[in-house]
Amino acid sequence: MKQPDAHADPQAASGELIRLEKVTKRFGDHTVLDRLDFSVDAGRHVTLIGPSGSGKTTILRLLMTLTKPDEGTITVGGQRLYPAPEKQVREIRKNIGMVFQQFNLFPNMKVLRNITEAPVTVLGLSKDEAEERARELLDLVGLSEHLDKYPSQLSGGQQQRVAIARALAMRPQVLLLDEVTSALDPELVAGVLDVLRDIARSTDITMLCVTHEMSFARDISDRVLMFDSGHVIEAAPPDKIFSEPEHTRTREFLSAVL
Ligand code: ADP
Repeated sequence: MKQPDAHADPQAASGELIRLEKVTKRFGDHTVLDRLDFSVDAGRHVTLIGPSGSGKTTILRLLMTLTKPDEGTITVGGQRLYPAPEKQVREIRKNIGMVFQQFNLFPNMKVLRNITEAPVTVLGLSKDEAEERARELLDLVGLSEHLDKYPSQLSGGQQQRVAIARALAMRPQVLLLDEVTSALDPELVAGVLDVLRDIARSTDITMLCVTHEMSFARDISDRVLMFDSGHVIEAAPPDKIFSEPEHTRTREFLSAVL
């Protein structure tokens, strides 16, 4: 399944998709990101690893425009996301989907409607078109039989798979994944990661993941970025970073989590 690239600059389709330049983010006196530079090419799967509090989730939240940088610029698909006029931000945001730790489904809507709601109201799809797409996505995440249930009738792992389908229903060019298995009971983790591996293999979507699941990071990533105190201290393909980490902090972090 291809993710049609409806909103992005076509010239950016095979090159750099996301760029952060000299991004600084502070919370009060605490500088969480300090003149951070990094970029992600279209179609790549990049994983952010590193100790808790090192600023990984903040990067996803900046891209999702849930928080703003204090300084620096953010560009997506060749267009400025920050600083930028509100209308431009809204357009770019349609290209970015996010799955959170806590699935954040609409509790009062059945599964099918959870997935069709935004495509109908934001993208202007007809109800039939949105439902057809939702059924395909429910098939992809292995939940075709549950479309008529409410979120509370599903396990955490099933709810998270609905949240993944809901994010994909907007046909985003970028999927941001923020520790999507950390709120799940251990026996439900594998099902969610299998779905994500499948999506990484079978679509051309760009993925930016924050995860503590190192074997998942190793499987799906083209590149792994090791964060420490708001800086990327090491960036390498997974085989390199997991087998021969160069930085002492990376070695210490990996020996603590592996
Ligand atoms: P990570 O994802 O690497 O664990 P985060 O990006 O969540 O790190 O957080 C980085 C730092 O920013 C942490 O010290 C956290 O406490 C702080 N932080 C994050 N969000 C807020 C907020 N809304 N208000 C104050 N501090 C925050």
